[in-house]
Amino acid sequence: MISGRTVILGVIGDPITHSFSPYLHNGVAATLGLDLCYVPYHVNSDSLQDAVAGLKALGVRGFNVTVPHKEAIMSYLDHCDEVALAMGAVNTVVNRDGQLYGYNTDGKGFLYALSDHHNETIQGKHIVFLGAGGTAKALSYVCLKNQVASLSIINRSLDKASLLQKELLTLNGDVPIHVFSRDDDASLAVLKQADLIINVTSLGLSSDDDLPVVSTDWFRTEQCLVDVIYNPKETQFLLLGREHGLKTINGLAMLAAQAAYAFELFVDRDAPFDEFFSMLADL
Ligand code: NDP
Repeated sequence: MISGRTVILGVIGDPITHSFSPYLHNGVAATLGLDLCYVPYHVNSDSLQDAVAGLKALGVRGFNVTVPHKEAIMSYLDHCDEVALAMGAVNTVVNRDGQLYGYNTDGKGFLYALSDHHNETIQGKHIVFLGAGGTAKALSYVCLKNQVASLSIINRSLDKASLLQKELLTLNGDVPIHVFSRDDDASLAVLKQADLIINVTSLGLSSDDDLPVVSTDWFRTEQCLVDVIYNPKETQFLLLGREHGLKTINGLAMLAAQAAYAFELFVDRDAPFDEFFSMLADL
């Protein structure tokens, strides 16, 4: 029952109907018996500033930010924490006494999902990112902070990958960072020697999409493929990897973990990982 005491949370994005966040947050709130309601808001880029002012004026306790607003939102916040500033992207906003604070839980969620849920490490590994967008930025930041052996970024637009490389080098100049365009044959050698290959493009959301790589001739059974996409649960890329004997990991655990970390910020209690992960069973 919603009352004047109910804590209102939400998520803004465009599109928004596909988001699992309302299901996860409302489900966990019900499990924990919290008087809380998490609402999806469809906000297009032209309305972003007005929407943020509106959420603030209405006293919404906090909200998540998804595609395409993770970078643009930063201009409308009062404070951003160090990690979000370094990543240049915010996925969680908390309203404290009318001041909006921005955070990014994608990187932490990714790390928790890999290490605590899937028993996979990144330390000392050769990592390849397929994609150079906001998520690539957040996850590569985490890789640099966790002593990976090397980082390679393969992207459709080489200039975007090069820009990301430049930004990452200012954060940590010790880790070798290489960039390639998607159709550069030289990227195949890098893929072949990689330990962990992570798809952070949006390719795979639809079954008609191209693969995020031009060829899979480099597959080795010792490799692990990660796809941050969680719907479908198994993209074509992961399906091919599994059929070739590679370990494969989809985006569901990351979704649950980044949501649990956001929830921790919203309601000021320890991240309820078990509750968020048990919500995945029904997806
Ligand atoms: P961005 O829009 O910032 O980046 C999209 C990336 O995909 C870019 O590298 C872009 O390349 C590439 N791309 C898009 N279309 C094509 C295409 N047709 N051919 C080749 N490359 C293409 O998106 P985000 O980084 O925010 O999100 C990426 C994915 O991560 C989404 O699917 C999102 O749902 C998922 N995600 C999952 C999370 C989870 O919890 N599991 C959390 C956050 C995101 P280019 O630079 O050339 O345009």
